[in-house]
Amino acid sequence: MPDTVVDRLEAVRAAIVRAEAEAERAAGSAALVAVSKTYGEEAILPVLEAGQRIFGENKVQEAKAKWPALRERFPDIELHLIGPLQSNKAGEAVALFDVIETVDREKIAAALAKEMEKQNRRPRLFVQVNTGEEPQKAGIAPNETIAFVARCRDMHGLAIEGLMCIPPADENPGPHFALLARLAREAGLSKLSMGMSGDYDIAVSLGATSMRVGSAIFGARASSAP
Ligand SMILES: *Cc1c(COP(=O)(O)O)cnc(C)c1O
Repeated sequence: MPDTVVDRLEAVRAAIVRAEAEAERAAGSAALVAVSKTYGEEAILPVLEAGQRIFGENKVQEAKAKWPALRERFPDIELHLIGPLQSNKAGEAVALFDVIETVDREKIAAALAKEMEKQNRRPRLFVQVNTGEEPQKAGIAPNETIAFVARCRDMHGLAIEGLMCIPPADENPGPHFALLARLAREAGLSKLSMGMSGDYDIAVSLGATSMRVGSAIFGARASSAP
């Protein structure tokens, strides 16, 4: 691994450009979401100074402690919530995030709709799909996804932009990415959030429009945050 966070960011950017070219996709069609969970300002600042603007966090409270100050200095930051959302945090999530990638049940859809109305703020939304149908993992089951996307729209007035998945850690991710792409096509959605440090190049080849990359940029995390 390259030595500094900026060297690693550049290496990831270069690998994405290569993967886009190999898949005959337009340069820049696959966006990098830098996952900064567990890392503080001293690690994040050089990445911001190197021009990265899209970041992902998995916890509302942690993001709330870190990002408002950074946003004052870099107003064009785009912050993604990529971790599970509790309905009692929906208000804070709507206030803080530009994209919420983890809409995965009726109760969350209803809570987000209510808060978006109240705050007159409309973060972009993704539905998380549990492509591996793992009992411990968040996300809607694949065979319920299309109906859930329709209910978000028709019952809650939520515009869902795309789908997100986290494949099982011990499986080849390719089939999971392909399944997510197929479900998005069938639901009429254009955005796919898939791919992490170990497999973002494969995700690009299977149509990812954003990849969530943490440790390949920031280094191994001290805690084993999921
Ligand atoms: C932590 C996390 C990532 C990034 O994982 P890395 O393997 O460090 O790239 C991506 N997506 C989600 C949902 C995460 O929680």
